[in-house]
Amino acid sequence: MRILITGAGLAGLSAGITLGGSGHDVTIVERAARLRTGGAPIDLRGDAVGAAGRMGILDAVRDARLTMTETVHFVGPDGAVLATVPQEMVGDSADDIEIAREDLTRILQDALPDGVRLVFDEHVTALADDGTGVDATFASGATGRFDLVVGADGIHSGTRRLIFGPESEYLRPLGYYVAFGRMPGREESTSRENSFYNYPGHLIGLARYHDKVIAVATFRSEPLDHDYRDPDSARRILADAFAGHDEWRVPELVDALVRDPDLYFDTVAQIHMDAWHRGRVVLLGDAASGPSGLSGRGTSLALTGASILAETLDARPADLDAALAEYEERQRPYVTHAQATAAPGGELLVPPTTEAIEERNRQLNAYATTPVSP
Ligand SMILES: Cc1cc2nc3c(=O)[nH]c(=O)nc-3n(C[C@H](O)[C@H](O)[C@H](O)COP(=O)(O)OP(=O)(O)OC[C@H]3O[C@@H](n4cnc5c(N)ncnc54)[C@H](O)[C@@H]3O)c2cc1C
Repeated sequence: MRILITGAGLAGLSAGITLGGSGHDVTIVERAARLRTGGAPIDLRGDAVGAAGRMGILDAVRDARLTMTETVHFVGPDGAVLATVPQEMVGDSADDIEIAREDLTRILQDALPDGVRLVFDEHVTALADDGTGVDATFASGATGRFDLVVGADGIHSGTRRLIFGPESEYLRPLGYYVAFGRMPGREESTSRENSFYNYPGHLIGLARYHDKVIAVATFRSEPLDHDYRDPDSARRILADAFAGHDEWRVPELVDALVRDPDLYFDTVAQIHMDAWHRGRVVLLGDAASGPSGLSGRGTSLALTGASILAETLDARPADLDAALAEYEERQRPYVTHAQATAAPGGELLVPPTTEAIEERNRQLNAYATTPVSP
């Protein structure tokens, strides 16, 4: 089949590997000028580790994994540690793999089979599905006809908008905004350590890995009037949200975020859809079922989805509709689980009041000192 994948994030690249590996003729178009490698380290959990194995990248992923035990500290205004998240609350199991987002992106790009085309600075502006194929028109003016279009263009998917309708029908904001950015310079660290400071409805902190430091900020908010493609709007909102707080390293972290040319800022939201395919267009990853960063499972869904999609297309080469229905049926339980895990994450990370912050810290400290029963 001639397959067009929109988006070269972790879902699009994964689908490039699985679908290209099945012998399909694959083109990936990415709207950005290069692969977007920002963000905090991400996790491969549960069956996503098996999917990485089937994709032939598991050794490379294991070589790049962040090996030090992850520690998450909550600190007070003077930097003193107030509470620590127990290791068993951070991941699902010892088999989970944590890896820098840029490392996984590089590994996926390197694993793309020969013949998979990766086109940057390009996106689809129109799709016309006549039942026997999909005619795509691109922003550059180019056109192409494909047997299948895989929309892997993230939470604000343009492919979803073209085929399934406006984002507002599917996007469920969880009541937070989040920003990630690089801290300038290098900071040698001896441990994989995250330190966060809370004040009511706000969380700001840093995540260290390799020799890098990522600044992270989250705050509770009703949906804001914000164009997610406008970095200046993001910078203004962030600066306003944390204005008037000079405790701990707050000003330094906000400054790093607003100065980062690759600042990532977005609503924390999930995508809920009853169906992920219509005709010859199918959605994958965050475009179909974004669970939000609070779930820590967006990347795992990208890998399991890409793996299942290729398997079902392989199993039913003559019946596209049945193959896509089976993809949905097999992927849906992972999505349901991932989306259900997100809400408690917000309560833990961004308590709304001083009392709730203190109670969270008390509970974490009590948990840490409770002996584990045999
Ligand atoms: C820069 C960045 C940083 C992130 N950081 C984190 C993080 O720290 N923690 C976390 O939990 N999750 C993070 N995420 C989200 C996480 O990567 C996803 O939840 C998960 O990996 C599933 O990925 P995805 O490929 O479905 O979506 P995404 O990772 O969002 O990738 C979508 C890709 O499609 C491209 N694109 C968008 N619109 C179009 C279009 N119309 N045509 C073609 N291409 C398009 C985007 O540029 C992007 O490369 C981040 C995403 C991005 C883009």
